[in-house]
Amino acid sequence: MDYKKLAELLYPNAKDVSFWEEKYPQRNLSSGAEVVRIAPSPTGYLHIGNFFGAMVDYEIAKTTGGVFYFRLEDTDKKREVDGADFVALNVLKEFGISPDEGLMPNGTEKGNYGPYRQSERLEIYKSYAKKLVLEGKAFPCFCQKAADVGEVFQRREKELQTEASISEKDPCRNLTFEEIEAKLKENKKFALRLKSNGKEGDKVVAFDLCRGEMELPANCKDIVLVKDNGIPPYAFAHVIDDHLMKTTTVVRGSDWLSTWPQHLEIYEALGLKVINYIHTPLISKLGENGNKRKISKRYDPEADMRFYVEMGIPKVAVCEYVLNLANSNFELWRAANPELDFREFKFSPNKIGLSSPLFDMNKLLDISKNYISKLSATEVYSNVLSWAKEFDKDFAKLLEERKDFAISVFNIDREGKNPRKDLEMFSQAKKVFSYMFLDFLGQMKIEDYEIDSKDFAKAKRVVSEYKNVLDEKDDKETWFSKIKTLAQKLGFATDNKEFKKNPENFEGNVANFCEFIRVAITGRKNSPDLFTIISILGQEKTVKRLEKLENLL
Ligand code: GLU
Repeated sequence: MDYKKLAELLYPNAKDVSFWEEKYPQRNLSSGAEVVRIAPSPTGYLHIGNFFGAMVDYEIAKTTGGVFYFRLEDTDKKREVDGADFVALNVLKEFGISPDEGLMPNGTEKGNYGPYRQSERLEIYKSYAKKLVLEGKAFPCFCQKAADVGEVFQRREKELQTEASISEKDPCRNLTFEEIEAKLKENKKFALRLKSNGKEGDKVVAFDLCRGEMELPANCKDIVLVKDNGIPPYAFAHVIDDHLMKTTTVVRGSDWLSTWPQHLEIYEALGLKVINYIHTPLISKLGENGNKRKISKRYDPEADMRFYVEMGIPKVAVCEYVLNLANSNFELWRAANPELDFREFKFSPNKIGLSSPLFDMNKLLDISKNYISKLSATEVYSNVLSWAKEFDKDFAKLLEERKDFAISVFNIDREGKNPRKDLEMFSQAKKVFSYMFLDFLGQMKIEDYEIDSKDFAKAKRVVSEYKNVLDEKDDKETWFSKIKTLAQKLGFATDNKEFKKNPENFEGNVANFCEFIRVAITGRKNSPDLFTIISILGQEKTVKRLEKLENLL
């Protein structure tokens, strides 16, 4: 076969690869600086696995003074969702890990190694395809998909009959130049396939930065390098892109390990030095059958990074949780440095665990709860407000109209040594503090109050008397002494020891007394400090609430 003639026939106008090699020179970076990338497909969401990789990338680039760039792998039109190009970018931006180079959220491109959308790089792939044909390392395949399958089946059956080993070599390997020329004249489309050198049972040794040296089954399939529409699948495209964009380390999920030998054979065919690879463990969940399975968008809402945004889980908590999954020593570091920003943690790629971590929502919410408890009331206010602006417009309006009131609500039990930890997500604020915000009086029916019907008469006495002594100007001490005096008057015990000895002599103790007032004001038996709540609500609102329950009883 005259490969030169064949290459000209298949790719008459393709540029020589030297053109691209010159166009994209080595980067001018200090030694040790790493070039890493996130390369998602525009599927309309950002999978937590991709986010995990992006955090690892971001940390590597940051700790080595390197570059973290964004490339859109948009060659699989079947998977593509309209308008999804920027979803991943925008989500990354929300989490504060924006790439330095590549496609930017406003649609522009930054950097000298673009275009950063694979669909705009077809001319480049063509040059490398031509080079492989020229060197006799790739060949055109004219099999149509359906026919292809039939043909391969027939061939395998024949091989099995003759007890020959099953080969993955494609039948079009053996077409002559004339046959190829004739098919092209008939306007037949071709895919370009790699002429694999692998044999069944061969092994290839590969080196993963975290997993070390690995022996994997060598590729022996004549895999497709360029489809018959001129678009290369991931295997060929990413090898060329990472080479030309000067990536130093690819960070991707360990689900790519099985096809890694294909990628390694492509490197070899192109004569390129294999760059570093890190295959990260896949974040998993326990399936119904008790087995671990990869977390998936189809079954698990938490697989999509938008979920955390929609739930109002603080970005810092999500990043900390993911770092915790990525680096086993993060938790120790956090315990030793509770006040430091997570960005100060020194990330080490070689401490990435190998086994798939189980996603644990409780753990994430625990991190989140602790984080929110340390925020000031004003910070909680602005976080809740920005969440509400996107997901609960009415609540946002109320928060804006009653800003000072809302801040004092979020400040309840916040400033002490042990702040309350009742918010895990900003989306819970409305529910947790509903008794402060909602049109409480209008909404409450007797069954909404946490009160037993056997206590109705007692509660009625307490609230109707209490409203007469309530004075918003009282300080805490005066307030409490009034409570005690009234409790005693109504037959409640002010001395707990005595109450314990003879409970039947009393209506209850002071705590029981307060519970009725609390239920009238908040609807609940448990709430933050009653005095604080009364001070925030003020005389008029508190009295109205007391009267409301009094009338319902
Ligand atoms: N486009 C691939 C994906 O979305 C990227 C894999 C890689 O990072 O190399 O899974």
